[in-house]
Amino acid sequence: MIIIACPQCRCALRTVGEDAEQLLGKETDYYPDRYPCPVCPSKARIIDGREAKEYLDDIRDLTPQEVFAALHGLGFPEEQDCGETAVQQALRRSPLRRAATRHVRNGRCCLDRLELEDGTRLFIGSSSYGAVVYRIAEPHSYTQTLLNRIQRDASTETTGSGEEARTGG
Ligand SMILES: [Zn+2]
Repeated sequence: MIIIACPQCRCALRTVGEDAEQLLGKETDYYPDRYPCPVCPSKARIIDGREAKEYLDDIRDLTPQEVFAALHGLGFPEEQDCGETAVQQALRRSPLRRAATRHVRNGRCCLDRLELEDGTRLFIGSSSYGAVVYRIAEPHSYTQTLLNRIQRDASTETTGSGEEARTGG
């Protein structure tokens, strides 16, 4: 089992499987503390089971391939729905704040991503058919993370002791 966590934004990814060590382990250039965080610009690092307790509410279980893709900027599985509907919805939800571009010669630029006012980012790559949106990253919200945690705790309490309470009452 490998757990990679970012102390900055508390993103934590846990994975097991044959490919975990090969894709993410000691032989990689990122080991042990230079994994690019998929959420924020910081570096994530390998943590052990003891440290993982600190991240218990934030840990996501993914396949080694999914973790590998996330670390390489391809986003989490849910961010890879970049069909026409998802793109249209994102662009209608919030106005454009900034187009992140890179200068190339001949008075042109490459479009890397569109950043919306609400913090959503649409990552763009190239293909033989034209520009491709390959990742739609929702804004990372510390408030939302906290709300999710509270909700999860509440539902754990409900499913835990609530079962008896419900049948009793
Ligand atoms: Zn991070």
